[in-house]
Amino acid sequence: MAQTSVSSSLPKTCKAGVVINEGPDFKLAVEDVPVPEPGPNDVLIKLNTTGICYSDIHYMLCDLPIPPMSSFGVRSPGHEGAGIVVALGSNVTNWKIGDRAGIKPAYDACFDCELCWAGKETYCDQSPQIGLQFPGSYQQYVLSPARYTQRIPEGVDDFIAGPIMCSGSTIYCSIKESGLRPGDWAVLPGAGGGVGHMGVQLARAMGMRVVGVDGGEEKRELCMRLGCEAFVDFTEVEDVAGEVVGICDGKGAHGVFVTAMSKEAYASAPLMCRVGGKVMCIGLPPTGTAFAGADPLLFVGKNLTVMGTKVGSLLDTTKALEFAARGHMKPIYEVFPLTKMPDAVEKLRSGKVAGRLVIDFNA
Ligand SMILES: [Zn+2]
Ligand SMILES: [Zn+2]
Repeated sequence: MAQTSVSSSLPKTCKAGVVINEGPDFKLAVEDVPVPEPGPNDVLIKLNTTGICYSDIHYMLCDLPIPPMSSFGVRSPGHEGAGIVVALGSNVTNWKIGDRAGIKPAYDACFDCELCWAGKETYCDQSPQIGLQFPGSYQQYVLSPARYTQRIPEGVDDFIAGPIMCSGSTIYCSIKESGLRPGDWAVLPGAGGGVGHMGVQLARAMGMRVVGVDGGEEKRELCMRLGCEAFVDFTEVEDVAGEVVGICDGKGAHGVFVTAMSKEAYASAPLMCRVGGKVMCIGLPPTGTAFAGADPLLFVGKNLTVMGTKVGSLLDTTKALEFAARGHMKPIYEVFPLTKMPDAVEKLRSGKVAGRLVIDFNA
C-alpha cells in the first residue's frame, strides 16, 4: 500500500567500511552491503563523502563504557556524511529526491520532552547515535529520519559539510555554551586536530583571541594560518599552563576548550584559566584515563567552572554550516578514495593527523 518514492534505479548493494574483530585489534575492511530500504518516515541518502572521526575509532576499539556496535547489529561506524536524498519513505513530504542532506552524530530524538523542546535534543534519552546504534556514514547509502536530517546550504561542498556535521557543530555548541564574548581569550588544547582547527576559526570569527596548544611544527603552522594569535607547543615548552597564562595578559584564559584527549590536557586546563574562567570538556579520553578538574581550592579561589557539551543540535549544526557558507570556517582535510578507507582509519588511530580525513565515495 505505502509507496516509497525512489530516484531512478537504485543499486541493490553498495560499498561500506565495516569493522572486523571489534576491540583493541580491530581492522576496517571495505565490503559490499545491501542498500537499505527507507521506512515510512525515513529518507535514503547516497553519500558522496564521510569524515573519519576519532569517535569512530572509540566505537571500533570498544574503549568507552557503552555497548559495542555489534550489540546493535551495526558494522559501519561514521556520523559525518554528506550527499543527496535518493529515496523517500511513504510519509515524507518535507524532502525531495536530489536534495542535499547530511548525517550528523545524533540520529533522532523524541521531540516530546523538555530537553527536545529546549533545543537540547542531543541529550534526550531517546536520541540514538548513528554509526553505533544505526549503520553509519562509512556505508554509502544510509537511512535518516526525515524530521531530523540535516540540510546542507548553498556554498558548502560535501567535503566541507561532512566534517562540520560532527566536529564543526560540536565546537560551535561548546563555544556558544561557554558564554565567551568578543575580545575574550579562548585557548584550545588540541587546536591542530579535527575539532580544534575548526574551533580556532569559529572562535576567531566570533571575535575571540585564540591561543592554540598542540604538538609539532605542522600543527603550529596550521594553527597560526587559521587565526591563532599564539601557539604553545607542548613538545617544546615545559610549563604549558604557565606559558598560556603569560600570553593571556598574565591572567589566564576566559575559556579553555579541551579538544585533546590526553590526561595532561585535562589536568592543565584549570591552571590555564583566569578568575571566572571556564574549562569546556569536548575531547573524550578513554574511560578512566583522565579527569576534568583540580584541587577544589583552585576552583574556589578562582571561581572556575567546568562544563561539558555534547555534539551540536540540529540548530547548532545549521549555524555551523552557515559560518562555513559565509567563508568563516573551512575544515582542512585530506581526501582518501573509498578503497583506502582502512588506511585513513589507521592514520587517525595513530594520532598523526593535522585537520580532518575524509573519504571520497566516488573515487
Ligand atoms: Zn565525531
Ligand atoms: Zn526528547
